[in-house]
Amino acid sequence: MKQNFYLPTKIIMDTDCVAANAKQLAALGTKALIVTGAHSAHVNGSLDDVTQALKSEGRAYKVFDKVEPNPTVECVYAGAKCARDAGCDFVIAIGGGSPMDSAKAIAMLAIQDIPEAKIFSGGYKERLPLCCIPTTAGTGSEVTQYSILTNDSAKTKTSLASPVLFPDLALLDSKYMASLPRSTMINTVLDSMSHSAEGYLSVKSTAFSDTLALKAMRIIGRCLERLGTGGLNGDDRADLLLASTMGGMVIVHTGTTAVHAMGYSLTYFRHIDHGRANGILLTEFLKRAERACPERTADILTALGFSSFTDMERKLNLLLGKKEKITGEELSEYADIAIKAGNIANCLWKPERSDLYDIYLASFSTAAH
Ligand code: NAP
Ligand code: FE
Repeated sequence: MKQNFYLPTKIIMDTDCVAANAKQLAALGTKALIVTGAHSAHVNGSLDDVTQALKSEGRAYKVFDKVEPNPTVECVYAGAKCARDAGCDFVIAIGGGSPMDSAKAIAMLAIQDIPEAKIFSGGYKERLPLCCIPTTAGTGSEVTQYSILTNDSAKTKTSLASPVLFPDLALLDSKYMASLPRSTMINTVLDSMSHSAEGYLSVKSTAFSDTLALKAMRIIGRCLERLGTGGLNGDDRADLLLASTMGGMVIVHTGTTAVHAMGYSLTYFRHIDHGRANGILLTEFLKRAERACPERTADILTALGFSSFTDMERKLNLLLGKKEKITGEELSEYADIAIKAGNIANCLWKPERSDLYDIYLASFSTAAH
């Protein structure tokens, strides 16, 4: 029986773990580029904790807080220039998947010269040391080898994937998530749910990834009701952060599948949040996957605490609220793009282009209240 597991990122999770591990941060270099978004890290305490930790160890830093959701190629090249100009020799990402994914590319581009037109063509060789500090509970990017950037020439989002991109260190403190708006919390949890569910239905799944996926989905299932009512407590947030990192550990090995491939068009063309896009598509994808993989889809429903697909649809629709209106013509175009995505090959149940179109259509026709 062949089973592999590789995860080079050191993970430390605890309340106040940034301050407690200042020496580990400082060991990464002498001057940090802190990569983050424009607002949240400035107000949720994460940026203060990091700068305090660096000061306490005599380390200098430069803040690059220009990352917007769904980061662009221009943004990561600007970040890399900022790192070089400021003489930074390590990178710290604070935020959701957007700053963490950007930081991976920035850490690489700061020392590896890749022409902008070739950024999606591979050949990733080296990067500056990197620590990721997640402040959402969705992507698991703090432990993955993926950096997902907007790819305008392909009109979608494309993953830079390389073992070079695994962060060295991930510091997980769920206290930063207390400031998350209910909608962002919901969307990021739907992303994390999707990672574990898709990973469990991937041709690359292993006994290790299955164990993590089931555990993560059980945690998410336990929190779903309070997620809907906005009644999450501190323990729930810590659990959901843990589940999100576990979901990241899953997709490190399994990749994502059709749901992510299809979701990227919803984000690229209609600006639907990444996690929300996955949440809209997941139930219909599972319904079709069930025909080929009945036991695995049943495991997913059970782990998430859904008694049936109808129950899943009803509960997810409560989280999703009113869905966007998208024409059949648009969805047909998205199906043409999604079927060409690399992650389709990861599906245990291999969808055709017509299956993708049907999933899109059914996902946007189910009622949401
Ligand atoms: P995000 O795009 O990083 O952030 C979304 C919003 O949440 C931003 O406006 C951000 O504000 C705000 N925010 C973040 N933390 C907050 C906090 N603690 N309190 C209040 N607001 C906060 O969202 P995400 O869902 O985490 O990341 C999505 C991205 O990750 C997508 O580009 C997706 O493709 C990618 N992704 C990557 C992987 C991977 O393995 N690498 C996997 C799945 C998805 P600020 O801008 O002010 O910070
Ligand atoms: Fe995702």
